[in-house]
Amino acid sequence: MKKRIIILGSTGSIGTNCLDIVKRLPEKFEVVALTTNSRVDLLKNQVKEFKPAMAAITGVDSDPGISSDTRYFYGKDALVQILEENDYDLLINAVVGAAGFLPTLKALEQGKNVALANKETLVVGGEIITRIAKENNCSIWPIDSEHSAIFQCLMGEEYSNIDKIILTASGGPFRASTMEELEKVTVEQALKHPNWNMGHKITIDSATMMNKGLEVIEARWLFDVTASQIEVVIHPQSIIHSMVEFCDGSIKAQLGVPDMRIPIQLAMTFPDRFPSDLPRLDFKTLKNLTFEQPDLKKFKALKLAFESLETQGTAPAVLNASNEIAVALFLHKKIKFLDIANIVENVLNDHQVVKNPQVKDLLYADEWARKKTSEYGSKVDC
Ligand code: NDP
Ligand code: MG
Repeated sequence: MKKRIIILGSTGSIGTNCLDIVKRLPEKFEVVALTTNSRVDLLKNQVKEFKPAMAAITGVDSDPGISSDTRYFYGKDALVQILEENDYDLLINAVVGAAGFLPTLKALEQGKNVALANKETLVVGGEIITRIAKENNCSIWPIDSEHSAIFQCLMGEEYSNIDKIILTASGGPFRASTMEELEKVTVEQALKHPNWNMGHKITIDSATMMNKGLEVIEARWLFDVTASQIEVVIHPQSIIHSMVEFCDGSIKAQLGVPDMRIPIQLAMTFPDRFPSDLPRLDFKTLKNLTFEQPDLKKFKALKLAFESLETQGTAPAVLNASNEIAVALFLHKKIKFLDIANIVENVLNDHQVVKNPQVKDLLYADEWARKKTSEYGSKVDC
């Protein structure tokens, strides 16, 4: 039987890689729905090729004149509508940003398993998401390479035997830059990641190291560990994707070439592991594997993420929403590179944290943080 999949965000970097896996394993998957925010032409091509029953364009509110056998949905609520209308086995959430939160929640409420690239889901509402998953007896399989590594290290292990999670980070393009150099970073420089080719938002997050901060929060919820059990280590080669240290001092690591299709395929096929002809690691040509401590002064975003994880409540949702807007302002050249973390810090300081938030509190905090960040952004002299 083919696994019936929905890919939210199918036009993005992760989404197109998911469809590449479908093409490599055509006998394993049936695509029942695909979505985009704005890349309508690419979505139409995907619809032609994979013939899903449904598709959605979230960036427009009404039909821009598409004629197709596929049923189209439009607007902000279209992702959740697609889940309500479809019969499917696995949701692949490859949307970027907090827009992925409600669809993940909906799928888990429906009792469906989720292959999750959208780390923002767990940053916004990790407690609610993991609780609903548990109550409905469904699983979240990580696509993020570090979390896939940890997930694989934990196969056959008791989570209670984890001493520490060692989350590796490439350090991004500015790992060795001075503070003076960081002040002058351009959008073009920040969009050049040394090891991975990704969407713009996560590429900027990698440059500020907010991405690693979001991943710390993601790991906290996926593997039920505390913030103090998560250590971030810079590993510029991105060959070791992360490690787990157990209570007896033994450490397991997962390695591979930096190609997202490897963790994507595992999340899509789990609990099976299928053969693949993707590039392999060749130890004969592998040079140094090196490790460094992250500099939390230079990469304040990582420190802010750890702090908001300690604070809990609505703080991580505010961190995330403020960062989304600050990154967009930077990409539009309205603020400077270092302003991103500085503004997020100001917004977090202004926020009245709600403890044990409900979904409505999280959505309100998200909206509040977006507005506040825009206000700070408009005051910056760029
Ligand atoms: P992209 O920007 O490349 O793609 C995002 C997808 O989501 C696109 O289909 C996009 O549509 C759609 N989208 C954007 N905004 C919205 C919105 N408001 N509502 C609904 N859909 C929207 O991002 P990536 O593929 O790089 O990243 C996706 C997620 O995966 C992120 O959470 C990221 O952190 C995570 N991730 C990505 C990795 C990577 O290698 N890229 C690695 C690990 C995790 P459109 O095409 O119109 O923009
Ligand atoms: Mg990652």
